[in-house]
Amino acid sequence: MKPEDLSSLGGLLACPSCHAGLGPADAGLKCTGCGSTFHVDAHGFVEFRADDSGDEVYDQDTTPEEYAETQLHSGQRLFDEYIFPLLGEERFTTVLDAGCGMGMGVSKLLDEGYEAFGIDLPNMARFWARAGKNPVRFFCADAARLPFREGFFDVVYCMGAFEHIGTRTGFFTLLDNYKEIRRACVNELLRVTRPGGRIIVACPNKRFPVDIQHPPADAESPPSIGLKIRTAVYDKTGVNFHPVWGKYHLASYPEVKQLFCEDGGARGFRPLPLSDYFGFSIFERTSLRPFLHLVRFYLNNLPPFLRGSFVNPYMLVEIRK
Ligand SMILES: [Zn+2]
Repeated sequence: MKPEDLSSLGGLLACPSCHAGLGPADAGLKCTGCGSTFHVDAHGFVEFRADDSGDEVYDQDTTPEEYAETQLHSGQRLFDEYIFPLLGEERFTTVLDAGCGMGMGVSKLLDEGYEAFGIDLPNMARFWARAGKNPVRFFCADAARLPFREGFFDVVYCMGAFEHIGTRTGFFTLLDNYKEIRRACVNELLRVTRPGGRIIVACPNKRFPVDIQHPPADAESPPSIGLKIRTAVYDKTGVNFHPVWGKYHLASYPEVKQLFCEDGGARGFRPLPLSDYFGFSIFERTSLRPFLHLVRFYLNNLPPFLRGSFVNPYMLVEIRK
C-alpha cells in the first residue's frame, strides 16, 4: 500500500480501541487518541490488532486454500438475487460486510459505485492479495473491535459469520466468555451503523434442529457418544441434527433480538423471508435431495408470522438502529 493511500484512510477510519481518528505512521496508521499503531501486513492490508491484547481470535486460521478458491465466486447467486435487492429496498451509499470472506459482495458493490468495505480475520489477507482486492476497502479486523467511525454505515451485513464469533478456533467450540464477545460484536455493529440504518444478520436458526451448513464438531469438540452418533449421521446424510437449547454456536431469533434490541437499543427487528435465499445446490449434497420440492415449498411458503420462530430453519433478520 502506498503512503497516500494510508493518509486517505486516516480520515475514514477510527481506532478500534478508543474510536479516535487515525493518522499515518511508519508503515501503518497511528491513533491520534491512545497512540495505538496498526501496521500494514506482508500482503498489503492494514491489521487492526490491539497493541495491548493477546487477541487470540486474530490468529485463527479458518480458511484452507481450496475453500478460499471456491469462495471467490460462491454466494454470487445469493448476492444478486437476494442481498442486493434487499439492500436496494432503501437508499444507501455506505456498506460494511462484517466477515466478508473472499469479499465477492464487497467487490460487486464497489463495481456498482457504492462505498463498500469488508473486514475479516488476517488469515484472509493472503487470499485478498492474490485476488487483487483493494487494501483501502478490505481490512483485517475483529468484528468485536471495528476500525470505523460511529454511524458511518447505512447498512451493515453479517452473513454466515455471527455463529463463529466467540469460538475457540473460528469454527464451533465456544469460549467460556462467548456471550460477552458476542455482545461486544453486536455493540460494534450498532455503533458503526447510522441511526435509522440497517443491520442484516444471517445464520442457521439454533432453535431449528437441522443444520446442513456446519458439521456437528470441530477439532476442539470434547468427544462424546452423542457427538459420535451425530457425526456418523452427518457423514452419511449431510444433515447435522443438533441441540436447540443451551450452549451451541448457532444463534436463535430470541437471542439475537435480546442482543440487538433489548440490550443494544435497536428499534426494529424484522425476520426476513427465505424465498430465493437458498440456491438449492446445497440440498443436493445432502440426503434431503429427494425432498427438494417439499423443502423449497416449505421455505417459500412459511407464513410471515412464523418466520421468527423455531419452525424456520434459518435466522435471517433485518435490524433497524
Ligand atoms: Zn486509540
